[in-house]
Amino acid sequence: MLKKINLKELTKDEIHAFMSSSGLSRFRADQLIHWIYTKYVSDINEITEFSKGLRNSLRNRSYISGLKLEQHLKSTDGTQKFLFSLEDGHTIETVLIPDDDRLTLCVSSQVGCAFSCAFCQTGKSGLSRNLKAYEIVDQILTVQKGIQPQDTISNVVFMGMGEPLANVHEVIEALWRIVSFIGISKRRITLSTVGIAPVIGLLASHAPEINLAISLNATTDAIRQKIMPVNRRYPLKTVLDACRTFPLRPRRRITFEYILIEGINDSADDARRLVKLLKHFPCKINLIPLNPIAGSIMHPPSEIIIQRFQNILVQKQMTAMVRKSKGQDINASCGQLRGHPVS
Ligand code: SAH
Repeated sequence: MLKKINLKELTKDEIHAFMSSSGLSRFRADQLIHWIYTKYVSDINEITEFSKGLRNSLRNRSYISGLKLEQHLKSTDGTQKFLFSLEDGHTIETVLIPDDDRLTLCVSSQVGCAFSCAFCQTGKSGLSRNLKAYEIVDQILTVQKGIQPQDTISNVVFMGMGEPLANVHEVIEALWRIVSFIGISKRRITLSTVGIAPVIGLLASHAPEINLAISLNATTDAIRQKIMPVNRRYPLKTVLDACRTFPLRPRRRITFEYILIEGINDSADDARRLVKLLKHFPCKINLIPLNPIAGSIMHPPSEIIIQRFQNILVQKQMTAMVRKSKGQDINASCGQLRGHPVS
């Protein structure tokens, strides 16, 4: 027997080709996309707009995959963390973060991560594999299906497990589906990267115009190298040069993320160097006090030191926000995702 096709694996053109090979029109193909991506069906039988005969013939050749929810945790601050298993048994985490007027979903792009940043839990067990575009998109569909109809995911951030630019082809395909199938505005999507310089250009030329965030985290190569080994390959200047070529529409800015770690990158000199590095950029800076991870000797700085750092930036007319950590009590904060159940 032929292996059944997973309809979620198909691009728009492939869905049209698949349907037309069964003698079905583009209109039917578009209906199928609509039911999968905006009604979140996970079984062809749920597509009630199709006749029983049509559903049966589709079911003979295809199916709609789904993520399996293994664990669901809710933080006292409203953040929710989902542990999903994939068809091959690997697990990933996805985090839903409510804020005043937004509902942001933080998605994973890889199972694990190969970059071994010193402050991040995800990198501790290495990379298992890249996610396919449909596994990235499915995080949104599955969470949205679970919370609808009261709430709608308004923003998507690629800040979960993995390095999105190390899986750029699947990520670009996922971005197109999020924008054109699900209908989330490209301005409400942010991709965060350690700064794989040559791939930033690829993203700019092939993906929808989403927001770019760079995990900068240090102001000298010596410090950055210590906490982010990727800096040996792509030092600060190379990363920032690549950012300069990233096309920005008027009033759009690049975000630079800067984790504050006590005694490592939190001095007044660091703040002044950061101003120097970024002052000609249309950018905003997100200061993220370190979320402690298990077994690490690194700590976040005190409130006073965080304030001093921010003040130096603001006095020099930089836009700099301190990002409140959410979901710490359920290990759902930046750097805490590992893709294993928590007991
Ligand atoms: N690989 C991508 C996306 C995942 S990390 C990247 O590095 O950008 C998303 C953000 O969480 C990054 O800005 C990263 O620097 C930050 N982060 C990682 N570990 C953290 C920790 N322990 N505390 C605070 N922020 C952390």
